Amino acid sequence: MSKVETPVVVTLPDGAQKELQAGETAADLAKSISEGLYRNCVGALINDEIKDLHTPLHTGDKVKLLTAKDEESLELLRHSTAHVMAEAVQSVFPEARIAIGPTIKDGFYYDFEIPEHTLSIEDLEKIEAKMKEIAKENQQIVRFDIPDVDKQLDEFRKDGEKFKAELLEEHRDHNPTLYLMKDKDGKVIWNDLCAGPHLPSTKHIKAFKLLKVSGSYWRGDENRENLQRIYATAWWSKQDLDDHLTRLEEAEKRDHRKLSKQLDLFSVHEEVGPGLIFWHPNLATVRDTIEDFWRKEHRKRGYQFVYTPHVASEDLYKISGHLENYAENMYAPMDIDEHPYRCKPMNCPGHIMIYKTKLRSYRDLPLRYAELGTVYRYERSGVLHGMLRVRGFTQDDSHIFCTPEQLKGEIDGILDLIDTLMTTFGYTYKCYLSTRPEKYLGTDEEWELATSGLEDAMKDRGIDYEIDEGGGVFYAPKIDVKLFDAIGREWQGPTIQVDLNLPRRFDVSYIGEDGEKHRAIMIHRAVLGSMERFVGGLIEHYAGAFPLWLAPTQVLVLPISDRHQEFASKVHQQLRDNDIRAHIDNRSETVNYRIREGQMQQIPYMVVIGDKEEAEGKVAIRHRRDGQAGILSVDELLAKLKSEIDSKEQ
Ligand SMILES: [Zn+2]
Ligand SMILES: [Zn+2]
Repeated sequence: MSKVETPVVVTLPDGAQKELQAGETAADLAKSISEGLYRNCVGALINDEIKDLHTPLHTGDKVKLLTAKDEESLELLRHSTAHVMAEAVQSVFPEARIAIGPTIKDGFYYDFEIPEHTLSIEDLEKIEAKMKEIAKENQQIVRFDIPDVDKQLDEFRKDGEKFKAELLEEHRDHNPTLYLMKDKDGKVIWNDLCAGPHLPSTKHIKAFKLLKVSGSYWRGDENRENLQRIYATAWWSKQDLDDHLTRLEEAEKRDHRKLSKQLDLFSVHEEVGPGLIFWHPNLATVRDTIEDFWRKEHRKRGYQFVYTPHVASEDLYKISGHLENYAENMYAPMDIDEHPYRCKPMNCPGHIMIYKTKLRSYRDLPLRYAELGTVYRYERSGVLHGMLRVRGFTQDDSHIFCTPEQLKGEIDGILDLIDTLMTTFGYTYKCYLSTRPEKYLGTDEEWELATSGLEDAMKDRGIDYEIDEGGGVFYAPKIDVKLFDAIGREWQGPTIQVDLNLPRRFDVSYIGEDGEKHRAIMIHRAVLGSMERFVGGLIEHYAGAFPLWLAPTQVLVLPISDRHQEFASKVHQQLRDNDIRAHIDNRSETVNYRIREGQMQQIPYMVVIGDKEEAEGKVAIRHRRDGQAGILSVDELLAKLKSEIDSKEQ
């Protein structure tokens, strides 16, 4: 009796159905459509999962064939290039042992143990050259189910591949696979333990670059082996790669830690501890100016400012639930009168304390409390990064207490504030609405009210937003705003949450028009986020050249020689009297030298005073970008500066 093979029927993205023989793969599907498509295919999205191109298909599968044009395939390219890099490293350094090589944003890395050798830039060049050879050879990347795990373990151990052996041991019951690199005659040249998926062959790998080496530990554990990590990037075309490298270069020039050294902005200190920021006078001036602006915009909108203590008894965090749900981010308790106290991780409970000091009526609402509130949260030392990821920071925090009827209007007001602040700093932004997750607190009606409040306010303002279905936190739907900076990079921006948890835990209520007690709505929102992260981001956004209204020094006064000192001092004082942040540089260096230094410090304006200027009672203006900007009287200069400052011109 011969077995009758039933055909396999799969569905393509356009809904069309395709019939294949049993056992045929996504590659066969591509071939059956066109030889050209097959040549360009790098993988397949099968039932929304990325798979190898040579994956057998089954009836009912939804299949999207992936080429370089599809966004999903970049991941395949990068991860496969990581293996090629590992193959090249072991070819150049046969004593190297391989660990793991995942993809990361815009690229990938691979970790290696290389006894008694530290990788250098020259080594990276050698490895890159070898990778190019491997790509040219068009090695096939073939999935191989490990039939005998013990035998494979022996082999790994014999080869000294202890990391691979450790991983295989752990995954022995999960159908572990090897990926084999085969030459054109089908001979296995190299293999790596990996679950895949990968490109079908190395010929697609054309544009990549090894970027840097840094130290790491096996499994991120500092008690385990020291490894060397090579970071790299890969793209489908040389053009894409070049564009990315240009962006990296630009980003490096803008690195806020680097600019901080040049412009004397902030510091962190070993003897203080990591993640704790010291604001130097220059950056403190920037912050102070932003805070003034922030206060003014809040006052206009009916916010009231409050201050709350930096520590509180654990009793408070028991009620708020922070001890239950947030303890791993909080610092250990300190003992005060034999009672445990904690540094505050959030400002919300404090604002609730103020709200609850009185019986509130619907006529009192909305109440908008705002605080530049400093909080302390534990972050692992490995993730700390300049001012962007820290352990102590000041949030521009606010909590709005309102009635359900007022919710939409309050959200509208916050969106208006966000727009004003973000456009003033020259950011463009995009809004995301995160809705109810699978596990949640509160009733369906509450979620509906809160979510529609957020969504309707955005709709009414004509804001283009995306929905992150189920992306809300367990106690609140939220709007997250992403910012785009001067070079198109994305930054975490403002957030708005409608809290369904704390008002219940603290019994936050008001007396309604009906004379009954009702639970108040509580909105959390931060617009700048944290002063540390926001200002750190601003340094990079402006590449250190703060616009005039924010610049630590707005005007530098430069007398050409000693005999101009007196007039220069008078101009200097006049500027200061008019609230201009002016400094005088009357050192005996040449004026050109002092101008160059002023430029390096990114000071927006320099005024140069010589014989001619003094005789006319005028000053010669230089702009840091445009150079000579005319000769003005001091009054004209003041008017010019004032108008530029008031308009907060970029
Ligand atoms: Zn892999
Ligand atoms: Zn809050």
